[in-house]
Amino acid sequence: MTKRVFNFNPGPATLPLEVLETVKEELLDYRGTGMSILESSHRSPEYEEVNSSAISLAKEVMGLGDNYKVLFVGGGASTQFAYIPLNFLHEGKTAAYVDTGTWATKAIKEAQNIGEVHIAGSSKNADYTLIPKPADIDFPEDAAYMHITTNNTIKGTQYHTFPDTGEVPLISDMSSDICSRQLDFSKFAMFYAGAQKNLGPSGVTLVAIRDDLLEICKDGLPTMIDYRTQAAKDSLFNTPPVFAVYIVKLVLEWIRSRGGLTAVEEVNRRKKEAIYRLVETYPEFFRGTVEKESRSWMNVTLRLPNEDLEKKLIAEAKEAGFVGLKGHRSVGGIRVSMYNAMPLEGAEKVAEFMENFRKANG
Ligand SMILES: *Cc1c(COP(=O)(O)O)cnc(C)c1O
Repeated sequence: MTKRVFNFNPGPATLPLEVLETVKEELLDYRGTGMSILESSHRSPEYEEVNSSAISLAKEVMGLGDNYKVLFVGGGASTQFAYIPLNFLHEGKTAAYVDTGTWATKAIKEAQNIGEVHIAGSSKNADYTLIPKPADIDFPEDAAYMHITTNNTIKGTQYHTFPDTGEVPLISDMSSDICSRQLDFSKFAMFYAGAQKNLGPSGVTLVAIRDDLLEICKDGLPTMIDYRTQAAKDSLFNTPPVFAVYIVKLVLEWIRSRGGLTAVEEVNRRKKEAIYRLVETYPEFFRGTVEKESRSWMNVTLRLPNEDLEKKLIAEAKEAGFVGLKGHRSVGGIRVSMYNAMPLEGAEKVAEFMENFRKANG
């Protein structure tokens, strides 16, 4: 038997075991073709089926209407930071951004290189420990779009209600919480996610764009930057990251087989409750670092009474089979990342481990 740990890495992250087993089974001879999907042409019927299933599963799982295009592209979420203003920030317009730290800040920096940016809200003064309230968000009525980051992977905050932007297209970086909960996705004119947290391996980014936004892409952009290029070709304009898309397809099938986003959300709720219970019960030992209403379900960030204890917990956790609990180097502390593929058992067991650690060291 292969020994598998509970992997709390923030991304690339743990994948469903069932998916990895299917990949292994199909690796050398993909469904009787005598070759791996890694070796197949992206124009082959086998890959076309993978690509079209991945698109239709993404739409089905998230309940997206026919007015959305789902793209699978390379370059990571970080490339989208520039592509969005390049496509949608027209001359004379302003793009609104909410600054909730690290990734949101990076998206803002890219947009500022390209055009006019309005900071519609920010939690910088609170060291990014909260999500600005809708009342604290303001934006020009004729903004080109408004950009938010639904889950802040490093700081450990997450939107639980979204600003109502009316006619202004709402665009969201959902890299670290896509498909982790049931949402009304029709609120978003566009959303995107690097796959390596909730959807699959690194190397592919899912981009969903509503037709009305797609229609207003700037003319004259380089072919590969213009979203309409891949939208018109179902992401097969050039060679796509075939292996990554194949695994995303398997992950989406896995989500569907578990009962879709409502069921996935319920498991995620129980997982985060297992960890936040420690913050509630032993606040002097497990100090939550963010405002309660802004807590992330995906990345729980904590501080212990001192750094030596944090190091000790991380080391002992690793010995016990819980890997990846170190906070991001920019913030320190402990971060428990629990994306979809982390089983409830993993969250419950690590919580038990942490509770015992407190008993021994508190
Ligand atoms: C991980 C992450 C990114 C960066 O994704 P890449 O695919 O590495 O470019 C961007 N935004 C958020 C919210 C993330 O969690």
